[in-house]
Amino acid sequence: MRFLVIEDERELCQTIAQSLRRLAYSVDCCYDGDKALEILEAERYDLVLLDLNLPGRDGMTVLRTFRQWDRGTPVLILSARSEVADKVEGLDAGANDYLAKPFHLAELEARIRSLTLRQFTQQETVLRCGEITFDTRARTATARGQALPLTRKETSILEYLMLHQGRPVSQEELMEHVWDSSVDNFSNAIRVHISALRKKLRSVLKEDPIRNRIGEGYVMGGEEP
Ligand code: CA
Repeated sequence: MRFLVIEDERELCQTIAQSLRRLAYSVDCCYDGDKALEILEAERYDLVLLDLNLPGRDGMTVLRTFRQWDRGTPVLILSARSEVADKVEGLDAGANDYLAKPFHLAELEARIRSLTLRQFTQQETVLRCGEITFDTRARTATARGQALPLTRKETSILEYLMLHQGRPVSQEELMEHVWDSSVDNFSNAIRVHISALRKKLRSVLKEDPIRNRIGEGYVMGGEEP
């Protein structure tokens, strides 16, 4: 999953980005409100983390403008302005949640899980597909109960395919949601990571749980073709 962190305190922004990357999320950073809107118009994210006091357009303006064309992407406000009125204004403007600074990273991670998994699961933090599990809290996967030693990219691809079971996911969609903008987007790089992931899954399962649907993409779970 790919996130955008809009936060003008660069150190804090980088700290958040690094800790989320360690959990196999892809993260882009942005340091002002005007640039944020440009990026949001051009890119697709699974979650936006938004500070309110920003140079350029402020966070509330960014949020209201963004919500004019996108109502679906979850937005989590991160702000030092912890007054009730600010929270209410943010939620009314279309934010999905609000976290007051300073916060503990563990709490941020919990809010992120809740916002990104809301549409897929109720309370369950472990995704399942046949004999494969993905623990969204620990960010680890198993096959037949055996821990899978996955790289960050492989983890991210597996999570995305498990969240979208039963429908084909194209290489373009994987690039949008699994890669951050610091990485060169070459589709053969996706093929390399997918093929490494498949090899690891096959070595335990003795079969390939990822199917190719020609012209459409990769599918996990759902009905067999
Ligand atoms: Ca700020």
